[in-house]
Amino acid sequence: MMFISRFIFSILLFVVTHATGNSQLLSPAEERNFSILTSYNELQNFLARVSKKPGVEVTHIATLESGRSVSAVLLTNSPPFGSDTAKVRVLLFAQQHGDEPSGKEALLTLLAKAANGDMNSILRYVDVIVIPQMNPDGSELQQRRTADTVDLNRNHVLLSSPAVKALHDVYFRWLPHVTLDIHEYGSFSTSWSDSGFIKTGDVQLGMLTNPNTSPAIRSYQHDRIYPFLSERMKRTGYSFHEYIVGSPRDRIRHSTTEINDGRQSFGILGSLSFIQEGRKWKTIDEQLERRARSQLAAVEALLEFVAKSVAEIRLLVNNERQRLMQLPGTDVVVRMDHFAGDDSLKIPVHWLSNGRDTLWTVKPYHSVAKPLVTVRAPRVYLVPASNKDLILLLERHNIPMKPMLKRNIENVAEYLIENVGEEILEEDTLPVPVIKHHPTRLALQAGTVVVPIGQLHSLFLVTLLEPQSMWGLAKYPAFESYLRQASWPILRIEK
Ligand SMILES: [Zn+2]
Repeated sequence: MMFISRFIFSILLFVVTHATGNSQLLSPAEERNFSILTSYNELQNFLARVSKKPGVEVTHIATLESGRSVSAVLLTNSPPFGSDTAKVRVLLFAQQHGDEPSGKEALLTLLAKAANGDMNSILRYVDVIVIPQMNPDGSELQQRRTADTVDLNRNHVLLSSPAVKALHDVYFRWLPHVTLDIHEYGSFSTSWSDSGFIKTGDVQLGMLTNPNTSPAIRSYQHDRIYPFLSERMKRTGYSFHEYIVGSPRDRIRHSTTEINDGRQSFGILGSLSFIQEGRKWKTIDEQLERRARSQLAAVEALLEFVAKSVAEIRLLVNNERQRLMQLPGTDVVVRMDHFAGDDSLKIPVHWLSNGRDTLWTVKPYHSVAKPLVTVRAPRVYLVPASNKDLILLLERHNIPMKPMLKRNIENVAEYLIENVGEEILEEDTLPVPVIKHHPTRLALQAGTVVVPIGQLHSLFLVTLLEPQSMWGLAKYPAFESYLRQASWPILRIEK
């Protein structure tokens, strides 16, 4: 009897929802209870359905050689997108690594909610850009890299991949205040299991680590946003902690200070930028529902925080972007590393010997990124016309430049390279050039380009163009030869 009445009730519910056209849109994975991953074609069909809803605009931002495209979804309740300048703009993107699909599934679920009107309280204060799948080819192949073997999360300086170039154009078009790059971390890596235990946190959140990024933004991330997310995640029943890399055998630190990834490359442009790492299991679809829902819970907690903190976030970001415009004459850190600090961190782990789950106090914990070498930011850099590849690279970043009209100039400094040693920083062997600034008067090549530093990309430019910079040009094969010359082929003018 009980069964029959429940059955009748279900039928009634079905008839009512379908008759009123009120059926709730579900993501492709939700429709089949997360039993199978969403394919590229399903994702595109889903976006086509979502794009019919009010306040949702789907645009194709890049076409790959395979013919597949990368899509961005603009969500607003005050169209056209970005027109309400009192709002905060947030950029969410996932699956730069094709074998890390849970962020994509989380963002598709978020889009279904937006289409159903379940994000209206957030969209009153926030315009959201969602790029659910950065690497469609890698996703279909279930591999980290693209079909042409590019690691997209190491392509944010060169921008040679169409998907990453398009992501940076989207950023440049809308200048989001907050960005979030969603990944998965390997829970079963031998660098941990060799010590007898593995990390089991559902989600880890990484914040800005580069010491050049705004201290005000970094402390806001750490002291305000992180505790809020932590509390929300506890309520939803998922474990959550700060993102760490390394292993108990050598050292554990926060992630790289490198500007070449999806978090720091936007952080040095003045955004509150994050990386989120969900737990990866032994196979690509194991525990898919928990993985997608825990990633989604963290994304929704971040959006909730942003929606209630609009004025603070806009002020922080505007102040930092003002500072970037005034960077000339101030010190910029070009070499840095991670050191032990006073902080402590407990994370959930699983002991392999006795099968127990406990909290473990992270050690050896190198929690602080400290400056080792600084240089003064010049007023302009001069790039001789012969450095065509570099000029093209700066153009890809939408960096304003102008031709040098004067042929003879004074007060220009050359960088003489006296010798090049080596140093290990962030577990990597990096060149250390010994440089002498040589003030000179020069007859410039015709077509020399002036790159002014008083602009949004000021930190990016100093980090990229200074010869002593550990994250500069010389680490890319196309520019390696710059350090093998008697002088660095870029000039600087201080005043
Ligand atoms: Zn990843």
